[in-house]
Amino acid sequence: MRKPLICGNWKMNGSRSANAALVAGIRAASTPQAELAVCPPTPYLGDVADLLAGSTVALGAQDAHAEAAGAFTGDVAVPMLAEFGVRYVIVGHSERRAMHAESDDDVAAKFIAVLDAGLAPILCVGETLDEREAGTTETVVSRQLNAALAAAGPTDLGAAVVAYEPVWAIGTGRTATPEMAQDVHAHIRALLAAHDENAANSVRVLYGGSMKPQNAAELLAMPDVDGGLIGGASLQADDFVAIAAAAPV
Ligand code: PEP
Repeated sequence: MRKPLICGNWKMNGSRSANAALVAGIRAASTPQAELAVCPPTPYLGDVADLLAGSTVALGAQDAHAEAAGAFTGDVAVPMLAEFGVRYVIVGHSERRAMHAESDDDVAAKFIAVLDAGLAPILCVGETLDEREAGTTETVVSRQLNAALAAAGPTDLGAAVVAYEPVWAIGTGRTATPEMAQDVHAHIRALLAAHDENAANSVRVLYGGSMKPQNAAELLAMPDVDGGLIGGASLQADDFVAIAAAAPV
């Protein structure tokens, strides 16, 4: 049984005071049916680690460099994140693929770096609107996921997570229907199984893209939807917690 993971991606939002209020709101709620995680911007990781101390809410980061150290101005290494108690690291978010020209191979290298450090990558995959309309959703998702799986080879995927995030649904208010999400999630599960049967059973596949309290229950009820990666709605404690409360018990 895969416990649903509800992970907030705060993106480039927040302040020290806003983060404290947001974490307090999340901590005040009880949603035992789901695991919660929050991914603040890098400068706030230490603060948020302190704010989360003693809670079951996990800390995540939004990106990391594939190398463990070196001349990479402005970048952050996975071992640095580990020092701050980070458990999850988002890799390959569509905003980074689009705005920072990250290729499938770049993302695969980050995926391996996170696994090798004993943390859990959240690998984002998903098609653009043009790709969906051209009928190439499965081709795109296969290419993105298989690049990471090929790089991982026989490495134990451990607590790795995959997030299906249709690019056309991110921050747009448009959400995949539960059936659309389930179709792609089942495809992702089949790709995982082709790589490693055990991984297919243990790896959680999250849905991301305008998930909110109003649509969470029907998405989270799908058999291959194991949680959500939440952008905008993760900035309001009430909304974030309501999404977690919508996870099946
Ligand atoms: C995201 O960027 O990962 C995301 C899912 O954003 P939103 O929920 O705002 O669509």
